[in-house]
Amino acid sequence: MSDQSEDGDECIFCQIAKDKIDGYKLHEDDKTVAFLDLNPISKGHTLVVPKEHVKDIHDAKGMSYMWDVIVKVSNSIKEAYNPAGIKITQNNGEAAGQEMFHLHFHITPVYDGTEIEENYSREELEQAEEVLEKIKEKMDEEEMEEIYG
Ligand code: 5GP
Ligand code: ZN
Repeated sequence: MSDQSEDGDECIFCQIAKDKIDGYKLHEDDKTVAFLDLNPISKGHTLVVPKEHVKDIHDAKGMSYMWDVIVKVSNSIKEAYNPAGIKITQNNGEAAGQEMFHLHFHITPVYDGTEIEENYSREELEQAEEVLEKIKEKMDEEEMEEIYG
């Protein structure tokens, strides 16, 4: 993992948020962005990230706006792929498994009869465009406008 400066200059998630590097974005508004995880552990594994660079939950006061996006994306994934369940996880600190030090929430669909595996196929991302389209189709744009204007 590369060093990440306090203001996020070198932070990969900041760069995705600013479109400096490609990300498979499925939602963006003025304060948040949601994109597919580069190493998905199930189909539709998505990260929800604030545009503001904060390291973890301890610096996240006032960021409750993220919740609406987490709910929205979860509902869209449910409609798109009908998983048996969805896990929302968020790691803080290396000891808790945090690898990317820009706050993010994992939305991980769980499918019947399949285990979530850390080594789930990276080839999944070869279908990323299709996955994106399928989830984005299910986003209710009107509802998003109500939330974000
Ligand atoms: P953490 O362990 O910090 O909770 O999760 C970090 C997540 O970020 C991992 O699931 C990892 O696959 C994902 N990740 C790491 N680098 C990139 C990247 O460049 N792009 C995307 N989309 N995800 C990344
Ligand atoms: Zn950042």
